[in-house]
Amino acid sequence: MKALITGASRGIGRAIALRLARDAAARARDAAIVVAANRPSAELVSIAAEITALGIRVLPVSGDLADPATPQRLVDEALAFCDGLDTLVCNAGITAPAPLAGLALDQWDRLFAINSRAPWLLAQAARAALAGSRGAYVAIASMSGLEPHVGHGAYSASKAALIMLCRQLAQEWGPAGIRVNAVCPGMIRTPMTEPIYQDADIAALRDRIVPLQRVGRPEDVADVVAFLASRDARYVTGEAIRVDGGFASSILAHVPGLARSGE
Ligand code: NAP
Repeated sequence: MKALITGASRGIGRAIALRLARDAAARARDAAIVVAANRPSAELVSIAAEITALGIRVLPVSGDLADPATPQRLVDEALAFCDGLDTLVCNAGITAPAPLAGLALDQWDRLFAINSRAPWLLAQAARAALAGSRGAYVAIASMSGLEPHVGHGAYSASKAALIMLCRQLAQEWGPAGIRVNAVCPGMIRTPMTEPIYQDADIAALRDRIVPLQRVGRPEDVADVVAFLASRDARYVTGEAIRVDGGFASSILAHVPGLARSGE
């Protein structure tokens, strides 16, 4: 495995990096993983240390993905460290709640730069290496890219764009043997969303409205990414896979008066 994972310092990206590292360690194969974040931080040092402890070579790198020069630089660093690339996970993303009517132009542009443009630029930079390895590209989108997320500014639009980017790339890159898929997490408890879960009543209500009766964990997403990056998913491309405990499909359960199925 030769992998680059963005947004790997915490939350979902951290879980993905650890899962890929554990899989590589279990296979006892040569592996190298590059973990990227916005800034150098104690969290980034810590994930790198955990991966090193598994016996896997790891390089922590940083850079703001809102800067159009960063994706190429991160991929160059990954190629030099790993001597190639077979897995690219575009996980870094931000949210900035605001009503669309009052959204400022720079807020819209920043969301799109990080959530949609950077994954495209990372893909461009990594294409030759992924073609050489017949590798896999996985982007972390969101259920908000499938359903409108009211009050969340450009977030839904940026994640919808990311899903379509993956579907188009899958078509364009299929002949080169590169698989491209998106994962659409539902409600996942991470540093990004932690403030919401500090309210115990809201946390309990959220657990109850998910058909599987709990909010997701970063590992729930990481396990699906590991599948998509693996040979087991060799005939899967162009998909947008929900990892949401069934939540996004549960709309009819909220219609008053409709019968609900029992046990
Ligand atoms: P998180 O805890 O906020 O972590 C975000 C990661 O992205 C950090 O490693 C951060 O690096 C990095 N990052 C942020 N801005 C960046 C920038 N401008 N340039 C480069 N890296 C940047 O987020 P999360 O909850 O794990 O979410 C990960 C992904 O899943 C995101 O794309 C998010 O939209 C998506 N998602 C999350 C949920 C959820 O409920 N949590 C649901 C659906 C989709 P630093 O540590 O340096 O800041």
